[in-house]
Amino acid sequence: MISVPTDAALEAMLEDYLNQCHAEPAHVAATQNYLKSMSRKALRQFRRRLNGVFIKEIDLWNELYSFSSPTNPKLSGERIREQLRKRLEKEQNYQCCYCRRPLFSSGHAKQIEHVLPKSKCVQHTFNLFNLVICCVDCNLKKRNHIWSIKEADYIDEEDYPVPESFDDLYHPRFHNYNEHIKFIRLQSNNHNISIYKGLTVQGKNLCANILTHLSQKEVFVNGNPDLKEYITTIDQHTPGSDTKADEAIRVFQAAFSRATEELLYDL
Ligand SMILES: [Zn+2]
Repeated sequence: MISVPTDAALEAMLEDYLNQCHAEPAHVAATQNYLKSMSRKALRQFRRRLNGVFIKEIDLWNELYSFSSPTNPKLSGERIREQLRKRLEKEQNYQCCYCRRPLFSSGHAKQIEHVLPKSKCVQHTFNLFNLVICCVDCNLKKRNHIWSIKEADYIDEEDYPVPESFDDLYHPRFHNYNEHIKFIRLQSNNHNISIYKGLTVQGKNLCANILTHLSQKEVFVNGNPDLKEYITTIDQHTPGSDTKADEAIRVFQAAFSRATEELLYDL
């Protein structure tokens, strides 16, 4: 029997988040209003898509990132994001939600990820239960995939799917990791190797789609000490004011991830 949180537990979690969505209590109400307005925008985009109305869409998550209130300097996308990131990190015990490796303490290495990708399920862009933090490797591998036979249902449903409906897709907010995946991690002075085993349908799918690739990449990188040092430096890079460099690093990480995979499958 797979355990999932009750409705009451989910409601309590959401209420707790909304009550602390800004680090300063004085700005909580304004932040809640802003989040509500963004959720309404996301819903409007979803309904337009469903009705086949095509207009150029704005990436609402990016809009949140660049938001800054003209009247309140304490209300900005950056503050909302940082508060959310802190909460998620703590809930996840400072580990990636998929591979359970420790999250590095810099921006590129811990990305806020949408379990149901925002590109396909725009209606869930701001749903707390759809947001997790994962490492750069898992994020690159996951991208816009849903990996479920229910993909079309998830895309077309306005309400967030209930925990019980994730019966072939591992959901980091709804499932108990230990019930679905078993792993061992070997660490020596110079090497880190993780081996994963899926225990359920959801766990096996997660292994097949993300975790097995990650183990292979670790083996490859660990076998190349010079490469490992530089890759670690790049993965720990904190995005700064140089957006061109940040973009270059992101593109390099994605290309390296693809190249590693191609190489491993050729062996
Ligand atoms: Zn990970």
